[in-house]
Amino acid sequence: MYRIGQGIDFHQLVEGRKLFLGGVLVPHHKGCLAHSDGDVLLHALCDALLGALGLGDIGLHFPDTSNEFKDADSKLLLKRCYEMVQERGFSLVNADMTLLLQAPKIRPYVAAMQQSISDVLTVEIADISIKATTTEHLSFIGREEGVVATATVLLQRN
Ligand code: MG
Repeated sequence: MYRIGQGIDFHQLVEGRKLFLGGVLVPHHKGCLAHSDGDVLLHALCDALLGALGLGDIGLHFPDTSNEFKDADSKLLLKRCYEMVQERGFSLVNADMTLLLQAPKIRPYVAAMQQSISDVLTVEIADISIKATTTEHLSFIGREEGVVATATVLLQRN
């Protein structure tokens, strides 16, 4: 039995914050404004995992009003989401994600992001796809005011 899930996340980009994407610190003059570390890609992936089994969203499980999750490492949130999936007898077949951002170029970091995510989920790197696109300078993304990530996952019952 298979289950599909999708997730999307948005964050503002502001000066003076570190930019974490896919569990990797990407050198940039701006980072995501957030209660946690603001890893927009991992948040979209968390929502896709939760969504595949109808378990709500990360805001439900990790409220941004909780001090426990202040500046939280989103890899821990991802691990906890995947534990919920595993507890229900499912495992990841593959994940496909897209980052929408104008800058910086993330291609040099994609392999490290795949490694980071596959380490957390204990799956093969080949099962973790990360793509990126600019918006050709259109919209808040093109003005470098924010970043968006989408994720789709397929789960199978063990
Ligand atoms: Mg988020």
